[in-house]
Amino acid sequence: MIVDVHVHVFPSLKETAGYDDIQSNYAVHQGKIRRLWARMKTNTLDERYIPEPGEDVGFRMDDYGKFYWTKHGKECWMQRFPAVLKNMEWTPEQMIAFMDEVGVDKGVIQSGYMEMNFERDYIAEVTAKWPDRFIGTITLDYDVEKGAEHLRGEMAKLRKAAANQAIKGVYQVFPRGQAIESSDFEPLWKELSDLGLPHFFFVGFQPKDKYLYSLKQIEQVLKKFPDLVGIIGHLGGNIRSSSHPNYTDGRELLPILRLPNVYFEVGYVLAYENWTFWKENYEYPYPLHTKLIKMLYDDVGCERLLWGSDMPNLYRTCTYRQCLDLVRLHFDFLDDDEKDLILGGNAARVFRLEP
Ligand SMILES: [Zn+2]
Repeated sequence: MIVDVHVHVFPSLKETAGYDDIQSNYAVHQGKIRRLWARMKTNTLDERYIPEPGEDVGFRMDDYGKFYWTKHGKECWMQRFPAVLKNMEWTPEQMIAFMDEVGVDKGVIQSGYMEMNFERDYIAEVTAKWPDRFIGTITLDYDVEKGAEHLRGEMAKLRKAAANQAIKGVYQVFPRGQAIESSDFEPLWKELSDLGLPHFFFVGFQPKDKYLYSLKQIEQVLKKFPDLVGIIGHLGGNIRSSSHPNYTDGRELLPILRLPNVYFEVGYVLAYENWTFWKENYEYPYPLHTKLIKMLYDDVGCERLLWGSDMPNLYRTCTYRQCLDLVRLHFDFLDDDEKDLILGGNAARVFRLEP
């Protein structure tokens, strides 16, 4: 069984996506452009054209994955999603068609791109309609600054979602930067442990000191709650060329990955999409990705690695089959049994899937 632990499905992002209005939806996307700058292709690399959160730049989306805005008189764009997106949507039917084409049995839908309450209903509908193909995750707003009553409400949402057997994990349920190792968070970590729901941690894509500090916090939590399963995606998120101030070589992840309750996503090759920065490392099968995974494999073994493509975003770099073939054909340091574990065996265990 081949399981992709990182897929997305979403309705048209040119609509409200569950927010009160289109402008609120657009504001969320505009607010993330600075973080994504120089990863995704843009028609300029000059940072003075980056739109700030809330700045009036006429932000808008159009077909084929592009965001547009106007700043200092210049019409700017970012290829936020791949050009295969029509109408800025990625339907479950499209995702299944791509899975069928390359032979992927199941996809774990990682939450994202929608208002989170709307999204829980959306993912519940998708997993109810295609229970054999999709496994759902949900997210929450576990923001300790919003007070005890708010947190109780979020915990109730968690328990309600977890009663649905198709929901088998959660994705980044707290605002980044909060003290997740503090007692405020203990009810959350305990509940996730008791429910047996793995937590995908969104780390990186931020200044190096913040990134390294967040890893220390996660390590403390996962040590204190050994029944909580943590999954680190996006290669840790701070993979940059060695000349970049946020450059790290991946070794910072080892203290976490050496814990027995932690997994790491293999196959996120979107890090290498921008030719301007990566040059020869831009080319499939992404030698730096292989080097990083081999380093982690040598240290913690294949049982901790889960293949995840980040479809449809993957199509900003390579095809779905190529992503699968990274493991199947290009990881020559693995034997066939180890490849099977990374491509599905480990995920079946983590997400308690029926054979
Ligand atoms: Zn993703």
